[in-house]
Amino acid sequence: MPHIIQVAVPTPLRRKFDYLLSDAINPEDVLPGMRVLVPFGRTKQIALVLAHAEQTDIELKKLRPIDKILDAEPILPQDIIKLLTWVADYYQHPIGEVFQTALPVHYRKKETALEPQIKQWFLTETGSQADWDELKRAVRQRSILQQLKLSPQGVTKDQLAAQQEGQWQTALKTLQQKQWIESRVKPIENEHCYLKDNIQKNAGLLLNPEQQQAVHHLLENDGQYCASLIDGITGSGKTEVYLSFIKQQLENSKQVLVLVPEIGLTPQLIERFEERFSVRIKTLHSGLNNTQRMKVWQQASSGEVRILIGTRSAVFTPMPDLGAIIIDEEHDLSFKQQDGIRYSAKDIALVRANNARIPIVLGTATPSMESLYLCQTGKMAHLILRQRAGGAESPQVHIIDVRGQYLQHGLSRTLIELIKQHLDRKNQVLLFQNRRGYAPVLLCNKCGWISHCHRCDAKLTYHYGHNRLRCHHCQHEQAIPAQCPECANTEMSCLGVGTERVEKTAKELFPETEVIRIDRDTTQRKDALQNILEKVRDGSQQILIGTQMLAKGHHFPNVTLVAILDIDQGLYSVDFRAPERLAQLIVQVSGRAGREEKKGQVLLQTSHPEDEMLNTLLNSGYAGFAEKVLKERRELLLPPYAYQAMIRAESNKIENYQSFLEYCFQALSSIKQQLLKSQNSTQKSTHNIQFLGPVPAPMEKKAGKYRGQMFDEEDKRVMLHDLVSVLINSVEANKAAQRVRWSIDIDPQDLS
Ligand code: ADP
Ligand code: ZN
Ligand code: ZN
Repeated sequence: MPHIIQVAVPTPLRRKFDYLLSDAINPEDVLPGMRVLVPFGRTKQIALVLAHAEQTDIELKKLRPIDKILDAEPILPQDIIKLLTWVADYYQHPIGEVFQTALPVHYRKKETALEPQIKQWFLTETGSQADWDELKRAVRQRSILQQLKLSPQGVTKDQLAAQQEGQWQTALKTLQQKQWIESRVKPIENEHCYLKDNIQKNAGLLLNPEQQQAVHHLLENDGQYCASLIDGITGSGKTEVYLSFIKQQLENSKQVLVLVPEIGLTPQLIERFEERFSVRIKTLHSGLNNTQRMKVWQQASSGEVRILIGTRSAVFTPMPDLGAIIIDEEHDLSFKQQDGIRYSAKDIALVRANNARIPIVLGTATPSMESLYLCQTGKMAHLILRQRAGGAESPQVHIIDVRGQYLQHGLSRTLIELIKQHLDRKNQVLLFQNRRGYAPVLLCNKCGWISHCHRCDAKLTYHYGHNRLRCHHCQHEQAIPAQCPECANTEMSCLGVGTERVEKTAKELFPETEVIRIDRDTTQRKDALQNILEKVRDGSQQILIGTQMLAKGHHFPNVTLVAILDIDQGLYSVDFRAPERLAQLIVQVSGRAGREEKKGQVLLQTSHPEDEMLNTLLNSGYAGFAEKVLKERRELLLPPYAYQAMIRAESNKIENYQSFLEYCFQALSSIKQQLLKSQNSTQKSTHNIQFLGPVPAPMEKKAGKYRGQMFDEEDKRVMLHDLVSVLINSVEANKAAQRVRWSIDIDPQDLS
């Protein structure tokens, strides 16, 4: 019997592949988690070994042999292989693509096995014997030579950067060309860099009773799978609870994985961890280049990094001593990937913790309905922090009814008056408007023409600073027309309010006050956000204007007034999650106010002050609001009380996506009937749940493509899973599928 190896090949095909192992290779040298080079069609591919197979469904003589083993050791440990296999199955995504996505780019590309690469610089023989006096005027070259001479064991680029100044990189190159210096690769030492007795640099704060209880619960349940939700208002000291728990993990020689939202990874957070602990702490996020990512990944894999703080994809990082997972701001949408593999890092983290039998902690001031539901069903412990740590008071929230009021570019009289009062007291004011640009619509006063994007079902936003019209859904932008393209009238007006317009108005109303706008347009450059935040932290009497970038995690101790200029969009949306999102936004934005000794005030401008959900939120708080939402979801059988999958399709032609989705609809209906028939009556679905659609996407045309979608909703997860997997098999064999780009989204969060 020949030896068969099962591998994951990066291809869109939803299956594993079998290969033969030639006699030249010892089967014992091939371990799951190693990369191998295999012939695939007419190409060679880097595949990942999953297992040694006993048998194969393929005719033996059709199997092709593995070309080459690329790694001497597995690069993925068994637990991650198991996790990724689960991901492929649960999200119904091609397994080869799942493995590829989880690996650092270098591993996907290079054929040769990679040594961990850290380049170090050394003086060469020539360099040390050369006459340095020759370099009298080349100060930088001399300085580099001196540094290298002092460190005969080698100097890394980082060490050079720390000591050298100016154009030292050019000098480095010159010296290299003269062969006075050279670089060599030195492998990472596989040491465990923790010092048991000396983990904590600085002692933590004295915890208040609520914090103590939470920590007590976590410690009591350590060493086993246990999911806990820390439901604590902003400033209640959740981070302090994490830190206390992490200390225990580090003392037990464990690693900790901390997942944070995309923009939540602030230098303040990292500083707080670094101030507390002396172990190696690293971050993994989209701002790193491939080499940096690779390095952190390796350091976590080797156990060198003890605390890994990362955004969603960090959930796949191998960590041999993983003792606990923490998910901060668990309600945040960025834990869900919205393209490619549409995974929820939160759900994957729960599965990972369960597999590894370790505790997992989710923290937020505004829990997701999914997490609250897990608490209700006893699958997650609900730890509540209701006090603000350090004694700061929670802000008061008020509604401003804007009906019948004159709004000055989005600002009501009442609000302007209050801004003035807060500024007079030398405090900061935060104005929240979740829309970039000056105005979302440009309108002709005479014929009613409006600025549409020709590639999307969307209007072009007027950007005042760049003097352009821009589409926020595709790359399109164009000049502002001097006259109406329809009737040549030259009088046009701007409808609606974006951050730029608020900024301009604020500057006109308060010419003495510094006005700072924080949105994607003002923070594009690297470090821009950081610089702005520092300016805000050190400032007083400022007006801050921003989009939802401002709603997350930042501390603005001098802000005493927060206003959300328009909450009405969130009140009336087709998405059943819109109220949840709006409530989270209101609570999170409010949390920015009055964090220290200064009491805060929060204002919401709306023309629907009577809205029931809004009033529940204001009168009963987020907990009361959530209770009501969950009740409603249960009655309507919506998630978390039902399970959804969304099939999306797009094409250059409307008919293509329509006929594809129509096909899916028919296929699903007949598959479901068969599945129900094959089950006995007791297992039957209690609720005859539904396929919704096919319907056009809320924005049917986007970037020149037409898009449609349909839903499958079931009250049993198994049913959903079985249905979708049978459907995919039939879709892959179908012609209609070739005329569209389609995708499947299990547990969709965003319905657009
Ligand atoms: P959260 O993560 O819930 O927003 P933090 O942990 O950031 O809360 O705490 C908010 C503020 O309160 C921080 O400035 C923190 O240093 C302080 N703080 C937290 N716990 C305590 C405590 N037990 N005693 C005094 N101050 C505390
Ligand atoms: Zn016109
Ligand atoms: Zn567009």
